[in-house]
Formats: sequence, structure tokens, C-alpha cells
Amino acid sequence: MKIFVSLAAVALVLPLAGQQVANVSFKLGRDAAQPIDEEYTKKIREYTTEPFFNSPLTDYLPASKTVPTPKAVLGDVSGAPGILPYSHEVYRYMRMLEKATPRVKVFSIGKTEEGREMIAVAVASEKLIASLDENRARLAKLADPRTIKMDDAEADKLVAASTPIYYITGTIHSPETGAPTALMELAYRLAVDDSAYIKFIRENVITLITPIVEVDGRDRMVDIYKWHLANPGKQWPSLVYWGHYVAHDNNRDAMGLTLQLTRNVLNTFVGWKAQVLHDLHESVPYLYDNTVGDGPYNAWIDPILADEWQMMGWNNVSEMTKFGMPGVFTHGTFDTWSPSYLMFIAAMHNGISRLYETFGNGGADTEERELRPNEYARTWYRQNPPLPKAKWSQRNNNNYEETGVLTALSFFATNNKMFLRNFYLKAKRSIEKPNTAGPAAYVFSADDPRPGAQAELLGMLQKQGCEISKATAAFTVLMPAKKPRTGGRGGRGGASSETATATDGATDGAAEKKPEEKPKPQPKTFPAGSYVLRMDQPYSRIADTLLDYQYWATNDPQKSIYDDTGWTFGELGNVQVARVTDLKVLEAPMTMVDGPVKAPGGLEGTGSVYLINHNADDALVTLRYRFASGSFDVAEEPFESGGRKFNRGSYIIRNVASDDLAKAGTELGLRAYATDTAPTVKTHAVHAPRIAMMHTWLGTQAEGWWRVEFDRLKVPYSYISTQTVANEGDLRSKYDVIVFAPGVRGNPLAIINGLPMFGNPLPWKKTELTPNLGNTDETGDMRPGLGWNGLEHLQEFVRKGGLLITASDTANFAVTFGFTPGVSISPAARLKVTGSALRSKIVDHASPILYGYNDNLAIFASNPPVFGISNMMGGGGGGRRGGPEERERPTGRGTADDPDVPQGRSPADIPEEPHAEVWEATPLTGEQMRNPVGVIPPAERPRVVLRYANNNELLVSGLLDQGGELAQHAAVIDAPYGQGHVVLFSNNPFWRAETKGSYFLVFNAILNFDNLNAGRKLAAK
Ligand SMILES: [Zn+2]
Repeated sequence: MKIFVSLAAVALVLPLAGQQVANVSFKLGRDAAQPIDEEYTKKIREYTTEPFFNSPLTDYLPASKTVPTPKAVLGDVSGAPGILPYSHEVYRYMRMLEKATPRVKVFSIGKTEEGREMIAVAVASEKLIASLDENRARLAKLADPRTIKMDDAEADKLVAASTPIYYITGTIHSPETGAPTALMELAYRLAVDDSAYIKFIRENVITLITPIVEVDGRDRMVDIYKWHLANPGKQWPSLVYWGHYVAHDNNRDAMGLTLQLTRNVLNTFVGWKAQVLHDLHESVPYLYDNTVGDGPYNAWIDPILADEWQMMGWNNVSEMTKFGMPGVFTHGTFDTWSPSYLMFIAAMHNGISRLYETFGNGGADTEERELRPNEYARTWYRQNPPLPKAKWSQRNNNNYEETGVLTALSFFATNNKMFLRNFYLKAKRSIEKPNTAGPAAYVFSADDPRPGAQAELLGMLQKQGCEISKATAAFTVLMPAKKPRTGGRGGRGGASSETATATDGATDGAAEKKPEEKPKPQPKTFPAGSYVLRMDQPYSRIADTLLDYQYWATNDPQKSIYDDTGWTFGELGNVQVARVTDLKVLEAPMTMVDGPVKAPGGLEGTGSVYLINHNADDALVTLRYRFASGSFDVAEEPFESGGRKFNRGSYIIRNVASDDLAKAGTELGLRAYATDTAPTVKTHAVHAPRIAMMHTWLGTQAEGWWRVEFDRLKVPYSYISTQTVANEGDLRSKYDVIVFAPGVRGNPLAIINGLPMFGNPLPWKKTELTPNLGNTDETGDMRPGLGWNGLEHLQEFVRKGGLLITASDTANFAVTFGFTPGVSISPAARLKVTGSALRSKIVDHASPILYGYNDNLAIFASNPPVFGISNMMGGGGGGRRGGPEERERPTGRGTADDPDVPQGRSPADIPEEPHAEVWEATPLTGEQMRNPVGVIPPAERPRVVLRYANNNELLVSGLLDQGGELAQHAAVIDAPYGQGHVVLFSNNPFWRAETKGSYFLVFNAILNFDNLNAGRKLAAK
């Protein structure tokens, strides 16, 4: 409670001159002169299951002769049982409000993937609504203090004249259904209610509302609810698709900005120069303001923000406690580490991120709800806990949502000048970052071998609102001295690293030598054309958090880690990023980039053969499919042509019109070189393979992150389910590659079995009752899985020359069900990898899967499968485990390294035991070859392409505990099976648009599906 006292004191002694007193007190409840809507008010009371599940703010509705209540659209009050409006109904109501009162204005803020509209509704006094543009112009100056020369006195004037914007977003999570009706009613109250409490809010803060963030998912959820109402007594289908691509993870996109909803909310927040982004969720009884949560907090936020979280969170608890509403709390286990949540758009753009979890029933049924003991226990931070058991209604949920938001708006309005001043201060401190916390800038070198990946990353940062500059001349800065690596932890490096190549193989765990002299800072010169992301700009924090390294201590007191722990975009994007602390970088000659960063491309020279270097830039796969009928060969070895070096896998293109190629090269950022003489190098053809993306009906989220990127890069595929594969034979005649992206954790038998077959069929189909369930895939019954038929079809597909691509849990499926002789997965005992970036090492340079790659790629993993390799069917793991290096000698004569010697005879020759590395199979012994029934023929053995690095350099970013269990194990395996192949990824190469550096491992496998054995060296026996 100490925190609470000190914060209250802060609020009372604001050091700002000329401000109103912050402790305004209101007479709660309605204005006696304003009539109430009797009928509506009666219904509110009827649908609220206990009087204490409501507050004096929401237990009545003021009447208006001119402004319609939500009943005009809903036919009943907000939160009424059985009523869940579609997005178009919510929008219709908001536009009715706009028409009826000058206090409401509706803005269209963009479209979803499926073309549905997103809106933002501004509510404030007519005076404020009439002057939104002038107010925004002032806020824009506070948002970028460079425009007022960082002049605090000028800022004070702007603060005094401005009104802050509090942005509320609803139902990003589609099964959390309460927010739209709560926000409809909230908008009405803010526009109509003449009580002192609401009037004060209306006049001192502009409330901005996006009632539905995930619009595609909302409409599907309403479909499902309607199906449920039309089928009483039946089980209903779960919401297997929310948005077009991902489900719950739509709230993990604030870094990668892959989804329309994220970009639309970001543009609204940044465009309006809003101060708060408050996202409404439902899961926890009855109201958990989780932004206060628990540590560790994100390490890149301004500490001012952490204080604002505390102030607002504890004020919420305090006010709602006084209303007698049980179950309101703000401390909890949620850590605020990852910046991927939608609300974090505010945290990283000098605003305030907030999030409520209220209690919803996933629909509008009123139900008896029983809680778990830990949910209703009284704790120090929850003195009035939720009830162990209660009848719960959507109206209750709406009461909590509205009351919480109204108390927050009241507190914010009361302290509006302090929060505006903080907004300015946070922006100013972001600009001062080079001189305070650092760094001065991040530099992206003009000689990065992957200009496409570089442009992609810079483009994302531009979408985040960051300014990018380009050096007009070479410049030199001092880079910090390299510290010697301490044992057990990883370090900086990636594609640009000199450090990561130094240690290999046998040095694992070996003690590092102490350097003789303290290392000194080293000068580094960046060529002209290098990009500079200066930190002296208002949105420096988002760039810093995305580009820096993350470190989560294995002994951190936070044990229920909420999400990923590492995301370093340069590493996972395979882009060279230099963190420069030397302030001299800011004096380098540079100009700001106008418009999106683009990789240079086009066609040079003349001739009928075109060469394009393979650098693993994603545009290469787009190009292949764009010219599907062109003839593309790839080189199996590096070569030179016209004085230029070309990597393995480089394209040699014929039968494409040069104008078309030049245009495509310019658009895609690829450089093609025309020649008349094709290089003399071993090649094979790459066609445009026919791809199927296979999903289960158990969950489609993780594969959605693959689909969204295949679509963006214009890689065509058929979208099929495990049921399609169960029902259709001869897959090989239709497809060359089947991608089975991860998504089913736990027992892989679930993929075969599907959902339990008890109860009734669960349809996912577009019908008159459920018009929004299309646009992805359909089935009459979601329950059946792949089945044994489907498994046989899938194996036949591979045996006949197809390629099956699997990752993480689907790799486990392939191993478990016999697709991959010689590969095993051993259970990890204490290994802990919680969404981290890990270092990989190349094992087999010649594999087509690695075309275009340099060593030391960072890959993303989350408690990944630990692969073992064997040359024997059913044989255990590979090298080292239990091998000669780890075996203890028996008791006997001599030292630990000596052989024992039986007495009374000559010492016998001890045959050398075969040695193998962890990622290798142990070579066969003579004994095993005597009758080699279980021996896998060399050509059919798994080929390890990429492995995890040694333990002392395994961690790149995030959390890694007991990494020795994973270190050096195979990470990517190409397993031949019949005429085809199964490629196994231990890592997840497509994750939340954070792993763009790994994409081409998959695209290489696809493009070379019929030549994966290229460059393979077989064992002699
Ligand atoms: Zn949620």
C-alpha cells in the first residue's frame, strides 16, 4: 500500500503552475434536472444479477428526446441476454449518434483483410468536437518537441490550451464479446448524461472509441452465437478462425505490424496524437486492470509510464472498491515485458497502455459461474475478491467495463494537464535518448548482403512511425570494445558477426582465455548509402526495443512468463544492425528518407540469360512464382560471372522477356544481370512447385502466421485440411509440396484423432444463419481428424516424391508416425526456452535448403523438440550422449585417462570407439554391420542441414535455461522417405513476422523439393 500513498501524494501536489486542482470531487449519480429513461433503467436492473454488480455510474440511463439509446438498434438494452450485435449494427448505432448530436463524430479508420470496415468514434463536448483539428495540431507539437525547439515554456502554453485523447478499443479477441454493447452505451452516456461526473469528462477529455478491433472475427463470433441460439441443447463449434489469419495472436502483432487491424489502430493512435490506448478484454473475474500486473516490465519504456500505470490502475481499484463492486484488482501475474500487445502501441509511442480483463461468458447467455479457489481468494492486492459462485450476465460484464472506463476517464480528465505534460516529457526524453540512456543510433550498413531484408525491416520501422535517414557519405564511429564472452550465455553477432565463427565444435564448455589487455573501442566505417535510425526522434523507443537484445534471467522471480522473451529483429530478420553509442554518428552527413525504404533492383547488361544472386531475400520466391512459366535453373556451386560473385542457389533465368524482368526486379528489389554466356556450373531446374498448406480443425493460429506471409509474398497455395487429406487419395498428382505448419502442441495423436466424437456434429460452414464462416475453409463437421487413412495418404504422397514440410510440433508428428527413419525426439528434462532467438550453425553448406545463407543465423524457438540422429532403425540418439567422451572408465589401475590392465597377460588392443558430434549419427560398428537388418542405407539417412550452436553461444535473445540439453542438436533435417522428403524444423521459421530471416529455409525447400539431394555426400557404409 506504500505505493498507493505516495502516488496519491504526487497527484495532490502537482508541480505545474496554472493548473486546476487535481482532487475535484463530484456528487455521484444523475443530474436531478435530467429525466431518466425509465424503461431502459428498469431493464438494466433486471439484467444485473446482483445490485453490487453495478455502480452509481451505470445503474440508470439518462433520457434524451433527440438522441437514440442502443435500444434503437439492439431492440433491448446493452448487455441484454441473447443479444450480440454484428459489426454493421454497432456501426449503424454509432452513426445514428453522430447524426443526433454534435458531441459525436465517426471516422472510418481502414479495412480488415476481408474488407470489413473499422471505425473510431470521438465523443466530447460540442466545443471540443468542433475544434478537433486545432487541438490535434497542438497535440502534434507536444508529440514532437523538436517542433517547439524543446521549449518547456512553450509546451506549458500548449498543454494549457489542449485536451488529451483517451482511445478505447474493444473486442480484439472475438470470444470476448461484451465490449461492443458496453461501448455503444458508453458513447451514449458521454454524449447525453448531464451529471456533474460525466459532464466533467466530456469537457476535459476527448474519448475515442473503436468498438470492434477484430471485425472479421466479431461477425464470425456472432454467427456462432446465433447458431447456438438456433440449436438449443447442442454443443456449438468453437471459433476456430477469428481474423482471416490468426486468432488470439492478433494481440501479438504490435511489433511486426502484419495485420490490418494493428496498422489501423496504430495509425489512429499515432495520427490522432492520443495519450492513452485502453484495450478491453475478458477472461478474469471481475475486473483485472492488468497493466500494473507484475514484473519484469519492458526494459525500454520511460519510467514515467510505469508510474502512470500505477496511478491509473490503483485509482481504478480505489474508486470501484468504494462502489462496493467485488473482484476489482490491478496487481497480478501479467508481466509487461513483450511489446507485442496492441496496447503497447501506446507504450512505445509516448502514450499510456492500459488493458482490462473483465469477466465474460463468451456470448450473451446468463449463466451460473463457479470460480477456482485461487480466483476467489482474498489477497493483499484484492481485498474484495470475486464470489466463489455467482450468476453472471453480459449486463454485469457491461456494468464493469463501463464503470471501470468511466472512473478511468474521470481520473484522466481530472489530471488531464499532468498527463499532457507527461506526454510531452516522454516525447522529449525519447529525443534526448542519445545523450541519456543511449544508443545514439542504429546503423544499417549499405554493404549488407541482403538489401531486401534490410528494406523490409526498415519499412516496418517506418510504419511504426520512425524516421530513417540515409548517409550521403561514408562515416566512422567508435564501436564499444568487445567483451570476452562469459560461459553459458550467448552474444551479439548474426550475419555480421566475427565472434560467432570463432568457436566451433570441440570448444563447447571450454574456459575462455583471459585477454591480456583490456579491449579498446574500435573505429568502424560505414559506407555511403548506409541507413541511420537516429535515436534523437520522438519514437526512438519502439526502434530501440525492437532492435536491441533481450535478456531474461533464468532466476527471475517471475515464473509464469506471459509470452515470448526475445525478438531482436535484426538477428531474427538476418539483417546486420549496429547499435552505435558514439554521438558522432549523429553528425554524419545524411538526409531523411522520403517514402518507404526500397531495395535497389532492376536489370543490367544485355543478353538472353539472366543471373540473380541468391541472398535469401524473400523477393526471390515471389519472382519465381511471378514468372511461373519462365525457365529457372539454380547453381549447385558458387560461381563468378562478369566479375561478380554468385552464391550457391543463384538463379540462371531463360525464356523471360527482359522488359518484364527489369520491371519485376525494380519492383521487388532484385538485381538481375543479363549475359550471353551462361556460367559453367552444375545446375538443376527449379519449377514453381504446387503447394498445399494443410491445417487441422483443432487450431489454425500458428499456421496463420505462415499463410499471411505466403500471401504477402504472393506464393500461391491450396488451402486444405487434414480432413481433405483423409478423404482424397493420390495427393501427389495434385501437389508437389505439403506444408504442415505447427499448431497442435502435446500428443500428436490428436492430429489423427481430431476432436472427440461425442455429441453432435460441429459445422464450420457459410449458411444463411452463419454467413461469415466462409473465406477460409469449410467443413460440415470439425471433429474428425487426419485419421489413419489420411496418414497413409500423406505417407504415400511423400513416398511418391512429394515434400512434406513440418516444424516444431508437426515435426514431432512426422517423427512419431514413421516418416523419418533415423530421427528421434528425446524429451527435454529441464530445458527452458520461452520464445527466444537462438544461434544456429551450418552443418551442410551444399544442401539446397541453405542456398543464399551465411552462417550464424538466429532462429526462433519455444521449448523446441530435441532431435537425435541414428543410422539404425529405432536406434537411439546421435553422438556424444553416452559416447566414449562421456563414459567413465571402470575402477582399475592408473589415472582417469589410462586403460585398466588385467594382470598376468599382455595388454590387449582396445578398438577405437566411433566418435560422432551431437548432431551426427554414430558411425556403424563392425558388429552392427554383421547382419545389417536395421541399418538404414546411406542414401535414406536423415541429412542434418542446420544445428543449434554450442551452449556458450546458443542464446541470442530471451530466456534459455539448461541450454546444454539443446546445444549442438540438429535444428533442420532433410529426411528422405521413399522418393520424397520430409523436412523437419525444430525451430518455427514463420512466427509473428519476427522471423523473416528464416523464411527462405522453407522457400528453398519448396523450390528445390525435387532436388533436395543436391550436393549430398553419402557415408561409405
Ligand atoms: Zn483477450
